[in-house]
Amino acid sequence: MRRPLVLANWKMNMLPAQVQPYLDQVIPEVEKDTAADVAIAAQDLYLAEMVRQSSQSRLMIAAENAHWTDDGAYTGETSPKALAQVGVHYVLIGHFERRKLFNETDERVNWKTKAALRNGLKPIVDLDEDLTAYEGDDASQVVLKQLAEALDGLTETDLKDVTIAYEPTWAIGSGEAASAAQAEKSAALIRTSLANLYSRELADRTRILYGGSVTTENAADFLSQKDIDGILVGKAALDPEKFLELIDIAQ
Ligand code: 13P
Repeated sequence: MRRPLVLANWKMNMLPAQVQPYLDQVIPEVEKDTAADVAIAAQDLYLAEMVRQSSQSRLMIAAENAHWTDDGAYTGETSPKALAQVGVHYVLIGHFERRKLFNETDERVNWKTKAALRNGLKPIVDLDEDLTAYEGDDASQVVLKQLAEALDGLTETDLKDVTIAYEPTWAIGSGEAASAAQAEKSAALIRTSLANLYSRELADRTRILYGGSVTTENAADFLSQKDIDGILVGKAALDPEKFLELIDIAQ
Protein backbone atom coordinates (compact mmCIF):
# COMPACT_ATOMS: atom_id res chain seq x y z
CA MET A 1 0.00 0.00 0.00
CA ARG A 2 2.85 2.42 0.79
CA ARG A 3 5.20 2.80 -2.17
CA PRO A 4 8.83 2.82 -1.11
CA LEU A 5 10.77 6.03 -1.71
CA VAL A 6 14.48 6.11 -2.40
CA LEU A 7 15.63 9.68 -1.86
CA ALA A 8 19.18 10.85 -2.48
CA ASN A 9 20.19 13.94 -0.55
CA TRP A 10 23.16 15.49 -2.31
CA LYS A 11 23.40 18.20 0.39
CA MET A 12 25.97 20.85 -0.65
CA ASN A 13 27.87 18.36 -2.78
CA MET A 14 28.16 17.89 -6.57
CA LEU A 15 29.84 20.49 -8.76
CA PRO A 16 28.27 21.46 -12.10
CA ALA A 17 30.62 19.16 -14.03
CA GLN A 18 29.49 16.19 -11.91
CA VAL A 19 25.77 16.72 -12.28
CA GLN A 20 25.33 15.88 -15.97
CA PRO A 21 27.20 12.55 -15.94
CA TYR A 22 25.22 11.56 -12.85
CA LEU A 23 21.89 12.37 -14.48
CA ASP A 24 22.93 10.69 -17.74
CA GLN A 25 23.56 7.51 -15.82
CA VAL A 26 20.54 7.57 -13.55
CA ILE A 27 17.66 8.99 -15.61
CA PRO A 28 17.52 6.25 -18.30
CA GLU A 29 17.33 3.62 -15.55
CA VAL A 30 14.57 5.39 -13.69
CA GLU A 31 12.56 5.63 -16.91
CA LYS A 32 11.86 1.94 -16.56
CA ASP A 33 8.76 1.18 -14.59
CA THR A 34 9.97 1.04 -11.02
CA ALA A 35 8.12 -0.29 -8.02
CA ALA A 36 9.70 2.44 -5.93
CA ASP A 37 9.51 6.21 -6.12
CA VAL A 38 12.88 7.79 -6.76
CA ALA A 39 13.98 11.34 -6.02
CA ILE A 40 17.09 13.47 -5.70
CA ALA A 41 17.36 16.48 -3.40
CA ALA A 42 19.90 18.98 -4.66
CA GLN A 43 21.12 22.55 -4.22
CA ASP A 44 18.63 25.08 -5.56
CA LEU A 45 20.82 26.17 -8.44
CA TYR A 46 20.51 22.75 -10.12
CA LEU A 47 16.82 22.17 -9.59
CA ALA A 48 15.23 23.76 -12.68
CA GLU A 49 17.59 21.95 -15.03
CA MET A 50 17.13 18.67 -13.17
CA VAL A 51 13.37 19.01 -13.44
CA ARG A 52 13.68 19.68 -17.17
CA GLN A 53 15.90 16.68 -17.78
CA SER A 54 13.86 14.29 -15.70
CA SER A 55 10.45 15.38 -16.96
CA GLN A 56 9.95 12.28 -19.13
CA SER A 57 11.22 9.92 -16.46
CA ARG A 58 9.97 8.79 -13.09
CA LEU A 59 12.77 10.59 -11.28
CA MET A 60 11.40 13.33 -9.06
CA ILE A 61 13.32 16.35 -7.89
CA ALA A 62 13.46 17.69 -4.35
CA ALA A 63 14.62 20.93 -2.79
CA GLU A 64 16.65 20.73 0.41
CA ASN A 65 14.87 23.65 2.07
CA ALA A 66 12.34 26.38 1.37
CA HIS A 67 11.14 29.50 3.12
CA TRP A 68 7.83 29.69 4.98
CA THR A 69 6.48 32.61 2.97
CA ASP A 70 5.76 32.65 -0.73
CA ASP A 71 7.64 35.86 -1.54
CA GLY A 72 9.07 38.99 0.05
CA ALA A 73 12.21 40.63 1.32
CA TYR A 74 14.12 37.51 2.44
CA THR A 75 17.52 37.82 0.79
CA GLY A 76 19.13 34.48 0.14
CA GLU A 77 16.03 32.39 0.76
CA THR A 78 14.05 30.28 -1.69
CA SER A 79 10.33 30.66 -2.24
CA PRO A 80 8.25 27.46 -2.02
CA LYS A 81 5.94 28.97 -4.61
CA ALA A 82 8.83 29.42 -7.05
CA LEU A 83 10.03 25.87 -6.38
CA ALA A 84 6.57 24.52 -7.18
CA GLN A 85 6.31 26.57 -10.35
CA VAL A 86 9.68 25.28 -11.52
CA GLY A 87 8.31 21.73 -11.17
CA VAL A 88 10.05 20.62 -8.00
CA HIS A 89 8.12 17.76 -6.40
CA TYR A 90 9.39 17.29 -2.85
CA VAL A 91 11.04 19.53 -0.28
CA LEU A 92 13.06 18.45 2.73
CA ILE A 93 11.91 20.29 5.83
CA GLY A 94 13.83 20.40 9.08
CA HIS A 95 16.78 18.27 8.10
CA PHE A 96 19.10 17.76 11.07
CA GLU A 97 21.80 19.90 9.47
CA ARG A 98 19.33 22.77 9.09
CA ARG A 99 18.14 22.37 12.67
CA LYS A 100 21.67 22.23 14.04
CA LEU A 101 23.50 24.75 11.85
CA PHE A 102 20.79 27.12 10.65
CA ASN A 103 18.56 27.66 13.60
CA GLU A 104 15.63 25.65 12.28
CA THR A 105 13.21 25.48 15.18
CA ASP A 106 10.18 23.23 15.49
CA GLU A 107 8.06 26.30 14.90
CA ARG A 108 9.81 27.11 11.62
CA VAL A 109 9.57 23.48 10.56
CA ASN A 110 5.83 23.78 11.09
CA TRP A 111 5.57 27.02 9.08
CA LYS A 112 7.68 25.56 6.28
CA THR A 113 5.63 22.35 6.16
CA LYS A 114 2.48 24.45 5.80
CA ALA A 115 4.10 26.65 3.13
CA ALA A 116 5.16 23.60 1.14
CA LEU A 117 1.67 22.09 1.26
CA ARG A 118 0.02 25.41 0.42
CA ASN A 119 2.10 25.52 -2.74
CA GLY A 120 1.59 21.90 -3.78
CA LEU A 121 5.08 20.70 -2.80
CA LYS A 122 5.29 17.39 -0.94
CA PRO A 123 7.20 17.92 2.30
CA ILE A 124 9.56 15.32 3.68
CA VAL A 125 9.52 16.28 7.35
CA ASP A 126 12.74 15.28 9.06
CA LEU A 127 12.80 14.21 12.68
CA ASP A 128 16.09 13.62 14.39
CA GLU A 129 17.26 12.20 17.60
CA ASP A 130 20.57 12.93 19.27
CA LEU A 131 22.76 10.47 21.05
CA THR A 132 22.04 11.78 24.52
CA ALA A 133 18.36 11.44 23.92
CA TYR A 134 18.83 8.04 22.38
CA GLU A 135 20.68 6.73 25.39
CA GLY A 136 18.26 8.26 27.81
CA ASP A 137 14.80 7.06 28.70
CA ASP A 138 13.13 9.86 26.84
CA ALA A 139 14.65 9.04 23.44
CA SER A 140 11.29 8.71 21.78
CA GLN A 141 9.97 11.90 23.32
CA VAL A 142 12.40 14.04 21.31
CA VAL A 143 11.14 12.64 18.04
CA LEU A 144 7.49 12.62 19.02
CA LYS A 145 7.66 16.23 20.16
CA GLN A 146 9.23 17.22 16.84
CA LEU A 147 6.50 15.29 15.03
CA ALA A 148 3.63 16.90 16.91
CA GLU A 149 5.10 20.39 16.53
CA ALA A 150 5.89 19.97 12.83
CA LEU A 151 2.32 18.95 12.13
CA ASP A 152 0.61 21.38 14.48
CA GLY A 153 -2.50 22.84 12.88
CA LEU A 154 -2.51 20.46 9.92
CA THR A 155 -5.55 18.32 9.21
CA GLU A 156 -5.67 14.71 8.13
CA THR A 157 -6.42 15.89 4.58
CA ASP A 158 -3.36 18.16 4.61
CA LEU A 159 -1.24 15.22 5.60
CA LYS A 160 -1.92 13.10 2.56
CA ASP A 161 1.15 14.55 0.84
CA VAL A 162 3.48 14.44 3.82
CA THR A 163 6.32 11.95 4.25
CA ILE A 164 8.16 11.62 7.56
CA ALA A 165 11.88 10.89 7.69
CA TYR A 166 13.53 9.61 10.83
CA GLU A 167 17.27 10.24 11.13
CA PRO A 168 19.26 9.60 14.31
CA THR A 169 21.80 12.44 14.37
CA TRP A 170 24.62 10.14 15.41
CA ALA A 171 24.07 8.03 12.30
CA ILE A 172 24.21 10.92 9.83
CA GLY A 173 27.47 10.89 7.92
CA SER A 174 29.14 8.83 10.63
CA GLY A 175 29.27 5.49 8.86
CA GLU A 176 27.48 4.08 11.87
CA ALA A 177 23.90 3.37 10.90
CA ALA A 178 21.23 2.50 13.42
CA SER A 179 20.45 -1.19 13.47
CA ALA A 180 17.38 -2.11 11.45
CA ALA A 181 15.67 -3.08 14.71
CA GLN A 182 16.42 0.31 16.32
CA ALA A 183 15.18 2.14 13.25
CA GLU A 184 12.03 0.01 13.07
CA LYS A 185 11.31 0.70 16.72
CA SER A 186 11.42 4.45 16.12
CA ALA A 187 9.43 4.23 12.88
CA ALA A 188 6.76 2.17 14.64
CA LEU A 189 6.61 4.71 17.42
CA ILE A 190 6.18 7.54 14.93
CA ARG A 191 3.38 5.58 13.26
CA THR A 192 1.62 4.99 16.57
CA SER A 193 1.95 8.65 17.35
CA LEU A 194 0.37 9.55 13.99
CA ALA A 195 -2.49 7.21 14.85
CA ASN A 196 -2.93 8.97 18.18
CA LEU A 197 -2.69 12.44 16.70
CA TYR A 198 -4.93 11.67 13.70
CA SER A 199 -6.21 8.19 12.92
CA ARG A 200 -5.06 4.65 12.32
CA GLU A 201 -5.94 5.07 8.66
CA LEU A 202 -3.73 8.14 8.30
CA ALA A 203 -0.91 6.41 10.17
CA ASP A 204 -1.16 3.38 7.90
CA ARG A 205 -0.88 5.36 4.73
CA THR A 206 1.91 7.77 5.78
CA ARG A 207 5.33 6.97 4.44
CA ILE A 208 8.19 6.87 6.97
CA LEU A 209 11.80 6.88 5.77
CA TYR A 210 14.99 5.99 7.59
CA GLY A 211 18.17 8.02 7.02
CA GLY A 212 21.68 7.87 8.48
CA SER A 213 24.61 5.99 6.92
CA VAL A 214 22.44 3.93 4.60
CA THR A 215 24.59 1.92 2.20
CA THR A 216 24.07 -0.75 -0.44
CA GLU A 217 25.03 -3.24 2.28
CA ASN A 218 22.44 -2.30 4.88
CA ALA A 219 19.59 -0.85 2.77
CA ALA A 220 17.74 -4.14 2.38
CA ASP A 221 17.60 -4.59 6.15
CA PHE A 222 15.96 -1.21 6.62
CA LEU A 223 13.58 -1.64 3.71
CA SER A 224 12.39 -5.01 4.95
CA GLN A 225 11.13 -3.50 8.21
CA LYS A 226 7.38 -3.27 8.58
CA ASP A 227 7.25 0.45 9.33
CA ILE A 228 10.12 1.69 7.17
CA ASP A 229 8.94 2.73 3.72
CA GLY A 230 12.05 4.14 2.18
CA ILE A 231 15.53 5.47 2.64
CA LEU A 232 17.05 8.94 2.73
CA VAL A 233 20.62 8.58 1.58
CA GLY A 234 23.45 11.09 1.75
CA LYS A 235 26.99 9.95 1.07
CA ALA A 236 26.29 6.60 -0.61
CA ALA A 237 23.98 8.25 -3.14
CA LEU A 238 26.69 10.62 -4.39
CA ASP A 239 27.88 7.70 -6.51
CA PRO A 240 25.32 7.10 -9.28
CA GLU A 241 26.16 3.37 -9.45
CA LYS A 242 25.37 3.00 -5.76
CA PHE A 243 22.22 5.07 -6.08
CA LEU A 244 21.01 2.76 -8.87
CA GLU A 245 21.85 -0.25 -6.69
CA LEU A 246 19.83 1.26 -3.85
CA ILE A 247 16.88 1.77 -6.20
CA ASP A 248 17.13 -1.89 -7.27
CA ILE A 249 17.20 -3.01 -3.65
CA ALA A 250 14.01 -1.05 -2.94
CA GLN A 251 11.92 -2.75 -5.61
P1 13P B 1 24.44 9.96 5.20
O1 13P B 1 23.73 8.93 4.34
O2 13P B 1 25.66 10.53 4.53
O3 13P B 1 24.66 9.47 6.58
O4 13P B 1 23.43 11.21 5.32
C1 13P B 1 22.17 10.98 5.80
C2 13P B 1 21.34 12.18 5.59
O5 13P B 1 21.46 13.17 6.29
C3 13P B 1 20.37 12.16 4.51
O6 13P B 1 19.52 13.25 4.57
